Order: sequence, then structure tokens, then C-alpha cells
Amino acid sequence: MDIKKAEFIISNTDVSRCPKEQLPEYAFIGRSNVGKSSLINMLTNRKSLAKTSGKPGKTQLINHFKINDEWFLVDLPGYGYAKVSKSTKKVFQKFITAYFEKRLQLVSAFVLVDCRHEPQPIDTEFMQWLGENQIPFSIIFTKGDKLKPGALERNVQNYLDTLTSEVWEEAPNYFITSSSSGLGKDELLNYIEDVNEQ
Ligand code: GDP
Repeated sequence: MDIKKAEFIISNTDVSRCPKEQLPEYAFIGRSNVGKSSLINMLTNRKSLAKTSGKPGKTQLINHFKINDEWFLVDLPGYGYAKVSKSTKKVFQKFITAYFEKRLQLVSAFVLVDCRHEPQPIDTEFMQWLGENQIPFSIIFTKGDKLKPGALERNVQNYLDTLTSEVWEEAPNYFITSSSSGLGKDELLNYIEDVNEQ
């Protein structure tokens, strides 16, 4: 799939005010600075559709973008400004959990993690919460250009092995991306297209 049209629709913190249209929806979420805005801009061929952050504490909103008049890309607030909490509930603002619990149009989430990092509790606790709530998700390993291919493969494998040795029977579906090189773009967009066609 090629993204020909990407339109900003609405930002808010209230799931009941998200668009009423019944289009399939994919939500992108991850720690602040993980590269979420850069990835959204790369996927949509736009320089600043999603605002690249840099600054912690900026307004936290659920942002809806309509793509090719066919599906919604949802940019959720970055998490992890506060130090790691024992409970996911404490870390995530209520409106984000409400979004996941109530948004029927949501087809799948993408949880972004930096390919260089070991699994962090804030991310793995969130994935566990998604699993417990039966919300389908894939992992996106971002900034793939920052590691040499061998190290990249090893890190990703270690990450997946850690997940399967802890809570998951099977590793989640995953993608490796780079907003600088375009790595993973076609794979990710084709995946969304395939799921939309099912
Ligand atoms: P966000 O807070 O998750 O939206 O992260 P941003 O997209 O603002 O990116 C955070 C920082 O990482 C910025 O300095 C980006 O230029 C950098 N960055 C994001 N994606 C990539 C990538 O794929 N490769 C490299 N080398 N840097 C990236």
C-alpha cells in the first residue's frame, strides 16, 4: 500500500469524541522519544504530520489521521516521562486505557520499542496489559539503522526470547523499521492492507 492521502481529523483525550466512522483503526504507542512521530511521518510520506517531540510533557492527546479514506492511523501519547511504576495503571493515563477498552474500531496496536534497548518493564507491562485485555498488537523495533545488521538481529531475537521466557507462549508479531532509511515501511503498510482486506 502507498499512502496517497493522510488527513488530520481530531485530537482529544476522550474516547467518546473520537471519529464515529466505522473505519478500521491502528494505534501507535510507545515511550517518549522512541521514534513514533518520525515513523508516522515516514509511513505517510510527510515531514510533520505527527509532531516530533524532543520535549517531554507536551500535551498528551489521542490524534486521529485518516489514511487514503480507508483507515485511521492513531497517534497515542508517548509514555514513560515518569519513572517506571510497578503498576501499568499508574503509568498510563486513564484516557489511554479507556481508548483501548472502548474503541471498537481498533483492529490492532503497534507498540514501539527502540531496537537498541533491552526489554523495559514499562513496555512489557503494557504488552501484558494488552494481552490480558485481548487487544491484538505487534511490536515495532524502531531506529533499525542505529545497529549493524548482526547486532540488530541479535537484539531483536533477545527481546523476543525474553518475552517468551516470561509471559508469552508465542512471540508477538513484529516489524523492524528505520525512519531514516525507510526500512520496514512496505512490510508494515502491506501488513495493514492485508488485515484491512480480510
Ligand atoms: P517520539 O517522541 O516517539 O515521537 O520520537 P521522535 O520521532 O520525535 O524521535 C525522537 C528522536 O529520535 C529524534 O531525534 C529523531 O530524529 C530520532 N529518530 C527517530 N526515528 C529514528 C530512526 O529511525 N533512525 C534514527 N537514526 N533516528 C531516529
